[in-house]
Amino acid sequence: MDGIMRAMVAGLSEEASAAFLEDCLSCPLCRKRLHSHAAGWRCGACARSFPRRGDYIDFVDALPSSFRDGLETDFSEHYVLPDEPYWAPLVTVTQEYSALVPDVLARLVPPPRRCLDIGRSLVEHGHIKPHLSAYERCLSVYCVLDPDPGQLECRDPRIFMARGIGEALPFADASFEIVLIHATLDHFVDYSRALDECRRVLVAGGILSIVMNNDGSWAKRLARKEARRRRIEASKHHNVFLTATRMVEELRERGYSIVHFRGLRYLLLPASILNRINRAIGSRALASVMRLSNRVGAALAPRLGGDFHLLARKIGEMPDRDRGRARRDAL
Ligand SMILES: [Zn+2]
Repeated sequence: MDGIMRAMVAGLSEEASAAFLEDCLSCPLCRKRLHSHAAGWRCGACARSFPRRGDYIDFVDALPSSFRDGLETDFSEHYVLPDEPYWAPLVTVTQEYSALVPDVLARLVPPPRRCLDIGRSLVEHGHIKPHLSAYERCLSVYCVLDPDPGQLECRDPRIFMARGIGEALPFADASFEIVLIHATLDHFVDYSRALDECRRVLVAGGILSIVMNNDGSWAKRLARKEARRRRIEASKHHNVFLTATRMVEELRERGYSIVHFRGLRYLLLPASILNRINRAIGSRALASVMRLSNRVGAALAPRLGGDFHLLARKIGEMPDRDRGRARRDAL
């Protein structure tokens, strides 16, 4: 195992990925080790089979219906950008922030950094997105999990793609140093169970990274009626609405300490107004306005942005049912 860990230090590789899978893939139901065969993986204990389908291994079809009821498996609409002019500057500013995250992670966790990404946030067209290429050097192993078979195209043999859900992870305890849930927690059928699963597969000292929509943004607090209307509209796809404060509490109760917190997307104006500003001053100037409002917002009111990003460190073992005691961790 030590040899494998040393081999994983220098960026993503096929060898490290293969050794990791042999070691760490486990049955999402009985948690026993999986064995590979020509057509996929099989559980040594319950004999469930997890077949290879094209670029990915399928861990969803073998789950009992209790896991699959209400599960969304087509997210194609979510990857289509709205036809709104103000989106271009918004994407630019969002990408600038995302590109900084691998450096932050590298400072918090020493290598090897084995990473699970629930919702394929780093990948597009089967490759790590160009503005996130720093992850290729930062990470030692990179596993993608998504319930939508349409999102699991893989063109990079160093990446492991699995069709699966956060509520039943096909990995052994303490398999990862980093787990990413970027813009996907709102879609989980049972986010509480998924957070427990994330804690299980993280090593002690490992980092959980969450990016999500903030149900307690300044705009939602001011315009409560409009917020209610949007929540009803979003609930076609979103199962979970959490404020930044609530999320922090949820994680502290689970034995995490918050080591990084950043409010994002502060220029929360109606689309028609953002488009009008975009037309008047151009998208480069609008991007500057967004950048400035994010800087000021994050400094003055970190928990009131439209979205938030937090990094939480798992701080050691905690009895499962010992939840009530909130931890007093400094932000
Ligand atoms: Zn099994």
